[in-house]
Amino acid sequence: MNKAPNTVASITKEVTCPFCSILCDDLVIQNQGGTLKILKNACPKATVAFEAEQAVISAKIKGQPVPLVDAINRICEILKKSHNPLFAGLGTDVGGMRQVMHLADKTGAIVDHMHGDALIRNSLVLQDLGWITTTMTEIRNRADLIIFVGTDAANFPRFFERTIWHKKSMFNLKPAQRQIVYIGDKPDCKAGISPNGRHPTVLNCKTDQIGEVISSLHALLTGAALDVKEIAGLKIKTLQTLATQMRAAKYGVIVWSPAELDIPHAELTIQNFCELVKYLTRFTRFAGFSLAGNDGATSANNVCAWQSGYPLRVSFNKGYPDYAAQRYSMRNVLKKKEVDALVWISSFSANINAPRASIPTVVLGTPDTKLNFNPSVFIPVATPGVDHTGQLFRTDSVVSLPLKKVRQSKYESVHSLLKQVVARL
Ligand code: SF4
Repeated sequence: MNKAPNTVASITKEVTCPFCSILCDDLVIQNQGGTLKILKNACPKATVAFEAEQAVISAKIKGQPVPLVDAINRICEILKKSHNPLFAGLGTDVGGMRQVMHLADKTGAIVDHMHGDALIRNSLVLQDLGWITTTMTEIRNRADLIIFVGTDAANFPRFFERTIWHKKSMFNLKPAQRQIVYIGDKPDCKAGISPNGRHPTVLNCKTDQIGEVISSLHALLTGAALDVKEIAGLKIKTLQTLATQMRAAKYGVIVWSPAELDIPHAELTIQNFCELVKYLTRFTRFAGFSLAGNDGATSANNVCAWQSGYPLRVSFNKGYPDYAAQRYSMRNVLKKKEVDALVWISSFSANINAPRASIPTVVLGTPDTKLNFNPSVFIPVATPGVDHTGQLFRTDSVVSLPLKKVRQSKYESVHSLLKQVVARL
C-alpha cells in the first residue's frame, strides 16, 4: 500500500490578514501540504477565509471549461467591441487596481467598487467641508473616550482587541481608563465591556435618528437650551451627560461605519459627526474614525485618486477622467443601460455576487464563486495576501501593509491577468 508523502509544515509569522480593512498584521499561519491553519491571532472571519480548502476549477466561457488563454482572448474580444464598459466589484489589491485603471483608461470604462455606496458617503463629506480623522495607532495610544455611532464594529472582529483593549500604549493609557459609548439601533455591546468588567454606555435610537441625536449633542455643547424633554427617545439629561463627558475627554473619537449607515443621505449624518468633532477641537482633542474599506475598497479609492485625480466613481469614456459620484454608480449605469460590457472583480470573497446584467459579463472571482448565471467569461483568481504577495491600504488610509504569500496557488492574480489583457488590446 502506498503511503501518502509526509508533508513538512511551514509556518509564516507576521501575516497581514486581507479579509477586513483593519488588516491585522500579526497572524501566524501554518501551511501543511497546502492546507492552512491560523496558529495565532485568529478571528472567526479570518479562520473561515484562510482555512477554507481552495476549490479546483478552470476558466470557463459560457459555463464550459476552456484553457486560460482562450478566456483571456475572449475578454479582449468583448472589450474591443464595447463602447462603454464597466469595471466593477474591484475587490483586489493595489497592484490589481493599478491594472484596472490602466485598462479603464485604454477602453474608456467606468470604474466603481462593490462598496461604492459606502465609499462615496465619506468622499462627499471630505469634499464638502473636510474632516479631522485619526488612525488606529492614535486611538490605541491616546483615546480615552470612544463613541461608536451606528456601528458596533462587529464586521471588524479584532478592532477592540487591536486598538482599545490593548495592554500597551505609548502614554501608558490603561484599558480601564477608556470610556466606551454606543449610539445606535440595539448595538451588540459585548466587545465594549472593558477587561475589568466595566460596561459601556448605550444610547439606543433608530439609525435614521442618529443625525438628530448628534445635532442635539452639538447644540448642547454650544450651550443652547433644547425646549424638549426627549430626542429620538433619549432624555435630554442623558444627552447632556454625554456632552459633558465629551468636553472633559482628553482625546475623544467618534467611530462610524459608512456601510452601516444605510439611510437616505447618510453623508449628511456623517457630516454631523465631522462638524461636531471640529467644534470639540476648540476645547480638547477630538477626531473621527471611519471603519470602512473591506474587499480592497480603501485601496481602490486611493489608487483611483492618485491615478485619475478623483476618488471612485470615474468614467474614462470621454478620453479623460470624469468624476460623478452618483451618476457613475454601478447600479445606476446598469439600470440606465449606459454600459455595454461588465468586468466584475472579487478576489477576496465569494459572498458578494456579480450583478446579473443582459450585457457581456466577465467575472474574475475566487475559485469558490457561485453564480446564479453563466457569465460570458469566468476566470478563477488568486487571493492577495494568501496566494500572492501584494499591498493593501488599511481603513484609516495612512498605511499600506505588505501582504504575504502563504500557499502555492495555480490561479493567477488580477494584476497578472489584466496585464495580459492590456498587452493584447
Ligand atoms: S479582524 Fe479583520 S483583519 Fe483582523 S484577523 Fe479578523 S478578518 Fe482579519
